[in-house]
Amino acid sequence: MSAAPSKPQTSTHSPRSYLSNRVTSLKPSGIRKFFDIVSTMDNVISLGIGEPDFTTPDPILEAGVRSLRKGETHYTSNHGLIELRRAIASHLKKLYGVEYDPQREIIVTVGGSEALYLTATGLLNPGDEMIIPTPCFVAYQAEAHMAGGVPVEVPSTMENNFALDPAAVRAAVTPRSRAILLGYPNNPTGAVAPREALTEVIEIAEEHDLIVVSDEIYDRLVYGDHQHVCVPTLPGAYHRTLLLGGFSKDYAMTGWRIGFIAGPPDIIEGLVRLHQYTIMSAPTTAQSAAITALQEGEPFVKQMVGEYDRRRRLMVEKFNAMGLPTFEPKGAFYTFPKVSVTGMTDEEFSEKLLHEERVAVVPGSAFGAGGEGFVRACYATAYDQIEEALERIARFVERHAR
Ligand code: PMP
Repeated sequence: MSAAPSKPQTSTHSPRSYLSNRVTSLKPSGIRKFFDIVSTMDNVISLGIGEPDFTTPDPILEAGVRSLRKGETHYTSNHGLIELRRAIASHLKKLYGVEYDPQREIIVTVGGSEALYLTATGLLNPGDEMIIPTPCFVAYQAEAHMAGGVPVEVPSTMENNFALDPAAVRAAVTPRSRAILLGYPNNPTGAVAPREALTEVIEIAEEHDLIVVSDEIYDRLVYGDHQHVCVPTLPGAYHRTLLLGGFSKDYAMTGWRIGFIAGPPDIIEGLVRLHQYTIMSAPTTAQSAAITALQEGEPFVKQMVGEYDRRRRLMVEKFNAMGLPTFEPKGAFYTFPKVSVTGMTDEEFSEKLLHEERVAVVPGSAFGAGGEGFVRACYATAYDQIEEALERIARFVERHAR
């Protein structure tokens, strides 16, 4: 019997050489790089990855199981289940008074992530600029880049509460500008955008005929007396805004992978074509579960927001007390303490903290311009774990105080 051919041990080709320039020029996410290290260590408290510690609430979970048991194991319409699109439309109408036609103005996607991919790919021609207030979710710049476009960062500052700055947005507009991508409540700062600032940004979009993409995936996670402003409800916004939403954060459904885009029918029709050739349809089981999330999820959302709020207040108070100036976040589930006061860069701080005290946070520079000198600490982790992590961080800061 002849020996099976063995796999060649060495290759004369680097696998990278087969990748397109678009991929090779794509930077790995600063978050993933860091968490590859975390996954090899024991006894680490992670304030790193932005996902709820809660398991999906029972009624939602059961709806998914029921759907499977009924044999709903097939594709859905490319747009998504009409029942889910109707539920999304009535949810948006009830919460914000904004109306979308479930037949033509909503597409169900594989999480907010696919929604971002579709909007960037569907809107940008090569070289088109997408204006992005930063710090922001790590995927925003990458999505613009993957679509052949150019991300144009507009940084915000802690002194200004990480607020959206219309004057800076205006200054970033060029003849190549095509879109503005807004993400409020914001990951990683927890800032929300004041109605006046948003209104002014819509005016800028009108003046320069730009499309607005509003990623409102954290819309329900707001604290105190803050009311979320749904961008398409602002004057002049509806016909030039794509509203992105999702189930991962509000309903603790990260693993189910469901999101949506609502917007003008001609744009949605184009995005459905892209979606059809890449995804076909979002997972059927998860779409069924998402219907129940909208119909029965409200008490759970309230409960989770109450718990996040408690953790948020603890973190802000302790960070400030230990000498790390921290803005009070009004939404999402992140705090963004300033660590440059220790004399370390955000990357040095995060790496040393991980190795010395086994607490994982994310270096702020991963989130674009304006994030340098800060770290992101997520409070979607159990209260007692956060308490322990804060004790470890306080010890670390004291040891390194200059
Ligand atoms: N937008 C923002 C601002 C996010 O923080 C995230 C996840 N971290 C997403 C979109 C994507 O979430 P998903 O794909 O799970 O819906």
